[in-house]
Amino acid sequence: MRILVISDIHANLTALESVLESAGNVDAVWCLGDLVGYGPDPNECIERVQSLPNLTCLLGNHDAAALGMIDIYTFNHDAQLSAQWTQAVLNHANHDFLSNLKEQAVIGNATLAHGSPRNPIWEYIMDTYTAASNFEAFNTQICLVGHSHVPLQFHLNSDSIHFEVLTDLSNVKIRDRMIFNPGSVGQPRDHDPRASYAILDNELNTWNIYRVSYDIESVQKRIQKFNLPARHALRLSYGW
Ligand code: ZN
Repeated sequence: MRILVISDIHANLTALESVLESAGNVDAVWCLGDLVGYGPDPNECIERVQSLPNLTCLLGNHDAAALGMIDIYTFNHDAQLSAQWTQAVLNHANHDFLSNLKEQAVIGNATLAHGSPRNPIWEYIMDTYTAASNFEAFNTQICLVGHSHVPLQFHLNSDSIHFEVLTDLSNVKIRDRMIFNPGSVGQPRDHDPRASYAILDNELNTWNIYRVSYDIESVQKRIQKFNLPARHALRLSYGW
């Protein structure tokens, strides 16, 4: 099976459509949360994600904020403004869809969580110390997480953990135990502004990161049109 793994779409429909076009035919889609927040297209992104084949979709911290499940005052000021706007525009059906999302899933040899298997909504896995304790928090061979918006891999081999930021066309062979992050569709933060996604092939046993350019300016114009924070438009040009 060729599985499209996406995360952190952040209400950026233009980036999402470019990723879907670039990925082509896939057998299943696993979405690791944060469909909304920051961007101008929350309803459109939720509806598009629901149309994808064999979908497994998780709840992220920004989705929880849009539902009023967490206190948005834990966010920085600009993220608060965008969460309030998202709460106001989210339609009933899409609110329902988000409120039914789970925090974690296990499919075959993979555990899926937005942040980490130990703390699915909040924890960032960005260093080997945090990765080490999280390898103890899941039982499958691999774990897929989002949240940091950076395509990463952690490889646990007997007692040592190796950590790498992945680049385009990474072609990683899955072995031992691994934690992967596909990067972010709608707001990359590794100084590469292109949308990021991964293809997990569970027959070839490979993980590949792909990057795809999209019309950033059109998204920035919509962010401006809805009076969302200018910083959220600017950062898309630079990937931070
Ligand atoms: Zn996010």
